[in-house]
Amino acid sequence: MLERVLQEIRARRRFVVTSHSRPDGDGIGSALACGQILRMMGKDAEVVMHDGVPRIYQNLPFADRAVQADAVPPGFSGDGAVILLECDSIKRTGLRGLGECFLINIDHHASGRNFAQINCIDSTVMATAELVFRLARLACVPVDRDIATCLYTGLMTDTGSFMFEGTNEHTFTVARDLVLAGADPALCARHIYFGHSTAKMRLLGAALANLHREGPLSWIWVTQEQMQHFGAREEDCEGLVNYALSIADVQVAIFFRELPDGRCRISLRSKGAVNVSTVAEHFGGGGHRCASGCSVDGPLAVAVSRIVDRLLAEPVVVNANASTGR
Ligand code: 5GP
Repeated sequence: MLERVLQEIRARRRFVVTSHSRPDGDGIGSALACGQILRMMGKDAEVVMHDGVPRIYQNLPFADRAVQADAVPPGFSGDGAVILLECDSIKRTGLRGLGECFLINIDHHASGRNFAQINCIDSTVMATAELVFRLARLACVPVDRDIATCLYTGLMTDTGSFMFEGTNEHTFTVARDLVLAGADPALCARHIYFGHSTAKMRLLGAALANLHREGPLSWIWVTQEQMQHFGAREEDCEGLVNYALSIADVQVAIFFRELPDGRCRISLRSKGAVNVSTVAEHFGGGGHRCASGCSVDGPLAVAVSRIVDRLLAEPVVVNANASTGR
C-alpha cells in the first residue's frame, strides 16, 4: 500500500499535509515528519492544520512552519496532492476545498475508510507515525533527529506512553529505531507530560470533583462555564479522561465536554475488555478499541445518560454489575 503512496509522491511536485482537527500527538507528529520527508525528497510541501499546533506540541521540530487555515491554499490542485494522516474522512480535517484535490489517505484506525484516491490503512500498527516512518525508509530518506522526534512523539502519545493494549515488542522495536535515529525519549515525554497550563490543572480539579461511578464505568465532565472560568482552552481537555480510567476496577472511562454550541464532545477510554470504538461509531464517531471519541447533541445531562446507558448495556459491564449485585 505504501508503494502506491510513494509512486504518487514521486509523480507529483506540490503537497499539502494535514491531519484531523483538534490534533493529537500522532496527528501532529506524523504531519510534521511527513512534511519534512517530502521536502527532503525535493518536493514543495506545506503542513496545513485546521486547528494549529496545540501548546504541548509547539516544541516539536517544524511546528513553527505549520500553517493554520480553514481551507487548502487557493489554487492548490493540478499536479499536487493532499496527504491526510489519521483521518477517516475529509470532514475530520476541518479543511474546505479538499473535494477538488488528489487525496492520499494514510491511517491506522480500525474505523478508517477508503475515501481518497489512494488509501493506505493499516490498523495493525499502533500509530500513523509508524506508517510515515516506513514511508521514509521506502523512499530512502534518512530519518534524522528532528524527524525521529516527531515520529517518536506520535508513537509515544498514541500508545499512551507504551501502556495501551496492543503495545508489543514490535512497538518497542519501532521506538528503538527512532531513538537510534536521534529521538530523546525523556525530552519528548517532558514536553508532553510536564508542559501543562495552570488552567488545565484547575479544570482537572473541577472535572474530578464531578467524578461519577457505576460498576466498571467512571465518567467526568466539564461545562463551558467552567472552561471560561479557568481560562481553559479546548486542548486543555486532552488526557483528562485518563484520570478517570486510572481507578482500580474501572474498565471504561468517559469524558464529556460541553461545546459552545450546546453539543458535547465525548472521549472514551477502555482498559481493553470493552471495545469503545463500536460505541463511538454508534454515535457517529470512531477511533480504536481502547481510545475513541464522538460528538452528540446536548444538553450535557442528556448526552451523559445516552452514552452511559449505551455502555451499561455492554455485556462486559452487564456481567460486572451482575457479579457485584447491581
Ligand atoms: P480523543 O478522545 O482523544 O478525542 O480521541 C481518541 C481517538 O478517537 C483518536 O484516535 C481520534 O482520532 C478518535 N476520534 C475522536 N473523535 C472522533 C470522531 O469524532 N470521529 C472519528 N472517526 N474518530 C474520532
